[in-house]
Amino acid sequence: MDRQKQLKKLLKEVFGYKDFRLEQSNIINSVLDGNDTMAIMPTGGGKSLCYQIPALFGDGLCVVISPLISLMKDQVINLKQNGVEGHFLNSSLSSDERREVERKLRRGEVKILYIAPEGILSQYILNLLSEVKLNLFAIDEAHCVSQWGHEFRKDYTKLSILKDTFPSVPILALTATADKRTREDMAHQLRLKNFNTYICSFDRPNIQYTICERENEIEQLDEFIQKFHKNDTGIVYCLSRKKVETITEKLKDLGYHAISYHAGLSSEERNRNQEIFSSADQVIVVATIAFGMGIDRPDVRFVAHLDLPKSLESYYQETGRAGRDGKEASAWMLYGLSDVVKLSRMLEMTEASEEYKQYARFKLDFMLSLCETTSCRRKMLLSYFDEHIDDCGNCDCCLEPQEMWDATKEAQMMLSCVYRTGQLYGSSYLIEVLRGSKNAKVLDRGHDTLSVYGIGKDVDKKVWDALLRQLLMTNYIAIKNFEYRTLALTSRSKELLRGEVSLKLRKKKEEGQVKIIQKILSGSAHTSHGREDLFEKLRGLRMDIAKEMKVPPYVIFNDKTLHDMCNIMPRSKDEMLMVNGVGQSKHEKYGDQFLKVIGEYI
Ligand code: ADP
Repeated sequence: MDRQKQLKKLLKEVFGYKDFRLEQSNIINSVLDGNDTMAIMPTGGGKSLCYQIPALFGDGLCVVISPLISLMKDQVINLKQNGVEGHFLNSSLSSDERREVERKLRRGEVKILYIAPEGILSQYILNLLSEVKLNLFAIDEAHCVSQWGHEFRKDYTKLSILKDTFPSVPILALTATADKRTREDMAHQLRLKNFNTYICSFDRPNIQYTICERENEIEQLDEFIQKFHKNDTGIVYCLSRKKVETITEKLKDLGYHAISYHAGLSSEERNRNQEIFSSADQVIVVATIAFGMGIDRPDVRFVAHLDLPKSLESYYQETGRAGRDGKEASAWMLYGLSDVVKLSRMLEMTEASEEYKQYARFKLDFMLSLCETTSCRRKMLLSYFDEHIDDCGNCDCCLEPQEMWDATKEAQMMLSCVYRTGQLYGSSYLIEVLRGSKNAKVLDRGHDTLSVYGIGKDVDKKVWDALLRQLLMTNYIAIKNFEYRTLALTSRSKELLRGEVSLKLRKKKEEGQVKIIQKILSGSAHTSHGREDLFEKLRGLRMDIAKEMKVPPYVIFNDKTLHDMCNIMPRSKDEMLMVNGVGQSKHEKYGDQFLKVIGEYI
């Protein structure tokens, strides 16, 4: 049998999948030909199979360097379900367990070993590995080697030791960060030689992107969940630990099963919450970015951002955690003027080199443009990763085109107000003056006598906020003092004041995105082929097995596989093996139980 056929047979028999996705097949072949390989695939694209299949195909051990203990554990549980001998070596093992893994390694019984970067750097492990036949090093989240990436880890930079110690073992570097500079860094730091690079499409068409202006965030979030994700599992990202706690409490008060996750929690609490997140149905985790790389759950239906992430890489990676199973999912974000000010301030206050700051500023500007854009959001997002698509038809801008209005006159009022008050104040104060506030501070300073006092009283505060965001983004106004957040004119302000350029703002939408998502979800939700009752029965069985086995339900079968069962309605082993996601091992373990439920239904 030729290699391609054998690979497909492995894919079906072990993992239950019919076809390779994206560049999986090319990546696997490159590795099997003994080449160093760089694979850039979006989150949820299927990176794990790119090393798991070669590991099963050849003799010897595949070592996976992975940054998170929780991720290793999940991967190993998943492999075991598929009948693959996978193990991990990390600090969570007892010394007996560790010795057992080492014994198995020496006997050549392990196919895949997960290990943290700091683990592999120890001389003891390097010696151990030199006693074993190695077939591949897979470096997961390989962008962590790069300072230009957004998740730099010092230990990763020492991984050059792998090539130095084992020059003939190919390295597969995997990441979801496509940025060219980061890629170059990865190749350099890992000492990749004559390597092949595969960059997959970053598009995740099943995720619907929506970005709204922040008004009352908890009300907006509640409305969003109630309307579209009432019984779903989701992640809500916030910037600070304090906000995570507050939002969790508010969600609990509203009756949701919500839990927190941030670096300030004790490690027991974090582990417990991570465990709940991976095993419970209908749970919402409110988290800082500390909740990240360990998330493997394929059926996260929404990722909500209540604060703006620092860069598009972070945003895309975080939103990519929704809908890994390929079913409809939402990425929903709120943003406002305070984000612009807060993030710019954080950036200016860091003690980084000017070169780094400039780079970070560029990233932040791009993030802000994404929020303000009135054209296809996905097109813009993907263009950042050098991928060019037509309008996507599945983001708020495509589904409900924005109407614009000419705000040049109001922009001139604002610039005059900044100037007349001496370029000494922040946004709220400037808006108060324009709206003719009787606030004591305004009166004491005599600003009620200025020509700009009260000239904008008919304009809503929210509109002034939106206008200021635009002015900041387009550099007609700048933040002069980051500590006091005071605003000042720039060299460009004159153009606008003289009317040489105009400024357009979006018209406020009434129910905006709410209508949109409904349109999409109602159109394509029939994934159980009208057999929702059977789906619920299969889901119940899955939960019972998961509880008994003490593993997350999706490890047994994911939702997509259950839906496929509802579609195919298998009555025999052969028919069950046709279901996507059912391999030999899982069929032996659970096939009969699921066949029984389907039989009863028929
Ligand atoms: P990544 O690490 O790239 O974020 P994973 O390796 O976790 O993604 O894969 C995401 C999901 O897609 C998993 O549930 C995995 O089993 C599934 N998957 C991967 N490859 C395929 C394939 N060829 N066909 C069907 N499902 C796949």
